[in-house]
Amino acid sequence: MHNKTIKELSTLLHSKQVSATELARHYLDRIAASQHNAFLDVNPELTLAQAAAADARLAEGSAGLLTGIPIAHKDIFVTKGWRSTAASKMLGNYVSPFDATVVEKFGDAGMVTLGKLNCDEFAMGSANENSSFGAVKNPWDALAVPGGSSGGSAAAIAARLAPAATGTDTGGSIRQPAAFCGITGIKPTYGRVSRYGMIAFASSLDQGGPMARTAEDCALLLNEMVGFDGRDSTSLTADQGNAREDFTRELNAPLAGLRIGVPKEYFGEGLAADVEQAVRAALDEFVKQGATLVEISLPKTSLSIPVYYIIAPAEASSNLSRFDGVRYGYRAPEYTDLQDMYKKTRAQGFGKEVQRRIMVGTYVLCHGYYDAYYVQAQKIRRLIADDFQAAFKDKCDVIMGPVAPTVAWDLGAKSDDPVANYLADIFTLSTSLAGLPGMSIPVGFGQGEKNAKRPVGLQIIGNYFSEAKLLNIAHQYQQATNWHQQAPEGV
Ligand code: GLN
Repeated sequence: MHNKTIKELSTLLHSKQVSATELARHYLDRIAASQHNAFLDVNPELTLAQAAAADARLAEGSAGLLTGIPIAHKDIFVTKGWRSTAASKMLGNYVSPFDATVVEKFGDAGMVTLGKLNCDEFAMGSANENSSFGAVKNPWDALAVPGGSSGGSAAAIAARLAPAATGTDTGGSIRQPAAFCGITGIKPTYGRVSRYGMIAFASSLDQGGPMARTAEDCALLLNEMVGFDGRDSTSLTADQGNAREDFTRELNAPLAGLRIGVPKEYFGEGLAADVEQAVRAALDEFVKQGATLVEISLPKTSLSIPVYYIIAPAEASSNLSRFDGVRYGYRAPEYTDLQDMYKKTRAQGFGKEVQRRIMVGTYVLCHGYYDAYYVQAQKIRRLIADDFQAAFKDKCDVIMGPVAPTVAWDLGAKSDDPVANYLADIFTLSTSLAGLPGMSIPVGFGQGEKNAKRPVGLQIIGNYFSEAKLLNIAHQYQQATNWHQQAPEGV
């Protein structure tokens, strides 16, 4: 059952071969027995109540394609019945009075929430090791990180603890964990998916998206996610291109004539041989399907790391100022006066990496440094976006390359070295800074410790609003290969 795709499960539900309740129980049992630390909160009673409601809709004939399909949410999306912690001690016991727009939309579609997924604290990280509630284990290799920050989402899908999950991507957090766990994920164009109820990290970059095993499943999920939301000030309207659309409509289009840009900066020094080999083999498959490869250049790629690690912390320092021990969340138990309460609350409630980013962000926004760092970073951000537009203008239709320079690293290997984590984001940050859609699909395996298989992801980047095209390309690849169907041992 748990090896079925959303599409297949939907058929079973609609033909009454399985009920939403049976499906929910099946996954809840798997979650209860799992050892990956992927889930931070479950509430079987509520899950089963949602499943019963889905069964009623299925019985009365008012069910849609996703009705009764279980989904788990990254613990960045707030949810009414499950704790919403952002994997931070600061929000350790926080229960939201409302659902995030994305959660609400999936609820309206009749999907059944399985629980909340572990992630890096406030989505800051690349390995899920910054969670206040412990690291997540990669289902392919218990010695490896699952990637981050949506590590719980990716691990849950790979371990078949959920057929669908939400993720958020600020600088790669959907694509990189999808790559490390051998699943499929897409970060839409910035502004397509509402950020309302997504606990804010860096508001000009944060974007929610679906994670599943196949491109087709991601298309089905994305169908419910996009659209204007007046409660998110940067949500795009239908007039701006954010009309709802059927992302499955182009899935079966042939790829003959597709021009794939291959950025030379993505294949240089630092790219591990096992990753390069799998990525190049995937490119060959596209050539077999009639695509052509065009070498392109994205010259500002290396600047994406300093630029991102100025802009994201700057926005984070502002967004996280709301956690002051007064309005909600954690408050230090002992303090002398108001100032002391703020200080102790924030020192005790935030983890190391979050505190580091608040300090960096506050620094670059200070009078005297603002022009030198923040304004400068904003200018280069524009140049990074221009690089992509130059490539899309007349050279290529999409861009492909690795998601990350290596396969998943060992748990603990970089946990004391923030810069090593930042450097591993080199291939995902530019897309986020430019606001472009990007996805990751599994294309093979590299080698970990003790010869364990560790998945490799191919990144596919498109121009604004090209999600249907990206999903089409990914789907065509998945029709011809079976990497996306492979499961970790014991699953
Ligand atoms: N790894 C990046 C960071 O640590 C991206 C995180 C994300 O996309 N949420 O900020």
